[in-house]
Amino acid sequence: MLKVRASELFALDLETLAQEAQRITRQQFGRTIALYAPLYLANYCENQCLYCGFSANLRIQREKLGPEQIDSECAALAATGIQNVLLLTGESHRHTPLSYLLSAVETVKKYFPSISIEVQPMDTQDYRALVEAGVDGLAVYQETYDKELYARLHPAGRKRNFQYRLETPARAAEAGIRQISIGALLGLGDWRPDVEALFEHLQSLEKEYPGVDFSLSFPRMLQVEGAMAPCIVSDADLVRIICVARILFPRVGINLSTREPAYFRDHVFSLGVTKMSAGSTTTVGGYAESMEGHDAQFSISDERSLAEVKAMLSSKEYDPVFTDWRRM
Ligand code: SF4
Repeated sequence: MLKVRASELFALDLETLAQEAQRITRQQFGRTIALYAPLYLANYCENQCLYCGFSANLRIQREKLGPEQIDSECAALAATGIQNVLLLTGESHRHTPLSYLLSAVETVKKYFPSISIEVQPMDTQDYRALVEAGVDGLAVYQETYDKELYARLHPAGRKRNFQYRLETPARAAEAGIRQISIGALLGLGDWRPDVEALFEHLQSLEKEYPGVDFSLSFPRMLQVEGAMAPCIVSDADLVRIICVARILFPRVGINLSTREPAYFRDHVFSLGVTKMSAGSTTTVGGYAESMEGHDAQFSISDERSLAEVKAMLSSKEYDPVFTDWRRM
């Protein structure tokens, strides 16, 4: 039923979708946008995703922040005003195991009231330990819901296990993580079946875990040196996806990162987006010192500072929100 409704909505003209999506967003969320920033702790990875700059078979400089570096990164990022941080690593059980993440969170929580993670999928008891340490959010993307394409794109590493990844949001919800972001990487194949499958995934999670705050991300694949070329997902396609998501799921969060260029973010956020990253870097380190020349997971398109993004939101009469959550 959801699939039918989604395909009917995708067939509507963009202007109609945009007006309805904006109306629902203002009704549900007012004129507010939550702001966050990513903090890359490491770029070691055991997987070989064909589309990623951190793939294990690429010869890039591998790095991992130690306790003192994490502290200075946090201090520099917190000084900008960010209070909601997303900690990222590649997916390496050897280089960034649970013990490393727990110790990183001990440092990070001195600076930030809200901590999310985007790391290798784990078992429920590991997520429980992270919740007890202070983690309250998780981002995990299925990349594609097409099993054959998934197998081709993930030729090595634990990420080959489609089902384990698919069940990751449920394990995190069981463990008590309160905000969970799921998504598909647009551009790996035809976006339409992936987005419809993502909506079905969200619907089943919301039914099973009504207390969890789920959100959606629609990252568009960017060309990375040494990686496969993306299928085109146009600006109009992405606007259509955001609008349909908002209409089908009026209360769900929708994230828009600095992968997207400034002109696109400025024009589109009011149609359904609730959370944006700002002032981001996608290299390991990079807030405390310049990491020019170091390898990034992907290039940022919107390079504006947090202050510039705040000013843009204010000019459109939106309030930036830095945190809605305090750890007790
Ligand atoms: S997408 Fe994630 S798991 Fe895949 S190679 Fe990149 S960092 Fe590793």
